[in-house]
Amino acid sequence: MAKNTNPSWNTRTKLVHSGTRRSQYNEVSESIFLTQGFVYDTAEQAEARFIESGPDEFIYARYGNPTVRMFEERIAALEGAEDAFATASGMAAVNGALAAMLKAGDHVVSARALFGSCLYILEEILTRYGVEVTFVDGTDLDAWKAAMRPDTKAVFLEAISNPTLEVADIRGISDIAHAAGALVLVDNVFATPVFQRSLELGADVVIYSATKHIDGQGRVLGGVILGTEEFIRKTVEPYMKHTGGSMSPFTAWVLLKGLETLDLRCRAQADTATALANSLQGHAKLRRVLYPTLADHPQKDVAAAQMEGGGTVLSIDVEGGQDAAFKLLNALEIFTISNNLGDAKSIVTHPATTTHQRLPDDQKAELGITPGLIRISCGLEDAGDLLQDLLYGLEVI
Ligand SMILES: *Cc1c(COP(=O)(O)O)cnc(C)c1O
Repeated sequence: MAKNTNPSWNTRTKLVHSGTRRSQYNEVSESIFLTQGFVYDTAEQAEARFIESGPDEFIYARYGNPTVRMFEERIAALEGAEDAFATASGMAAVNGALAAMLKAGDHVVSARALFGSCLYILEEILTRYGVEVTFVDGTDLDAWKAAMRPDTKAVFLEAISNPTLEVADIRGISDIAHAAGALVLVDNVFATPVFQRSLELGADVVIYSATKHIDGQGRVLGGVILGTEEFIRKTVEPYMKHTGGSMSPFTAWVLLKGLETLDLRCRAQADTATALANSLQGHAKLRRVLYPTLADHPQKDVAAAQMEGGGTVLSIDVEGGQDAAFKLLNALEIFTISNNLGDAKSIVTHPATTTHQRLPDDQKAELGITPGLIRISCGLEDAGDLLQDLLYGLEVI
């Protein structure tokens, strides 16, 4: 149980107060404990702490640190998770959660539409260590069911896929996985901690790249694994603390400040994404607009049932392929061309030539990553200004 929290508090209260620890000075803002280690009063105390550390006892920053612990407890309170482990990046979290629980001979079922580095871990790394992975269409419950085997230990998926924004039915997939005795690990980045509580929907483990909305201001890399106390402390912690993927105290401090404004930012950014999606839908130069709450989104019912909003990202597919997409990107004044998302600054990405460049053409086509596809991460600027910028870019094509 996190410190200084109350399960009955609502999100915004938890985001400001949960997990706070104060030193003997009773500081208002959370302190950065920029220390690699901790001093023991006696040899006996050192011995005792290595046998078992209490909640306010630390040994070495790779194992834990007061600032990092504040971040872990604040986000665990937000998600309603028993515990959390903070990691150096989102990928350290994805790799850590999977590698910590799997061994040679285990089977994993994964959605096919994945963030490039997640795909690399499942396709290239885990298989090298004797884990077998079956990829399925994440939106097809029958495909999930058909792929389950007696040796299936885990299923892995992104709550909303990048960049085509397909929505996975977390409850349906969890029921299928649990019937087969497998754990459900959800990368919840695109859904955000504000709009979807995947643990409440049945997932066992939720993973974030905190680099995205949780920082949300483009400053640091970070990640977090959330789950039961048993999974975090018995499975994840030993792997993470011995392999070195822990979060730095400075990063945790930046992310604590990010959490304070997370709900406000995500809601403002999602309002903008909704407004842009609604305004751009039907535009003569667009083949399609992808956003989970649009009436023509294939999983709009799933999205409506499990999400409180459509998220901060939309994608558009322009007529005229890569040439047209590049013209649009180069004409934009407010949007920056980059590959982060969830940031205060609105960002446009051309997945086919950047984040998904590595994929062969047939796989791109299968995943809907067409030459004209542009991913738009909405920031905190004025929604009207952003719309004007995009309309001007479309005119230039
Ligand atoms: C960015 C991202 C990651 C990786 O996070 P890093 O912090 O960049 O390591 C993993 N999954 C998804 C869905 C992401 O968007």
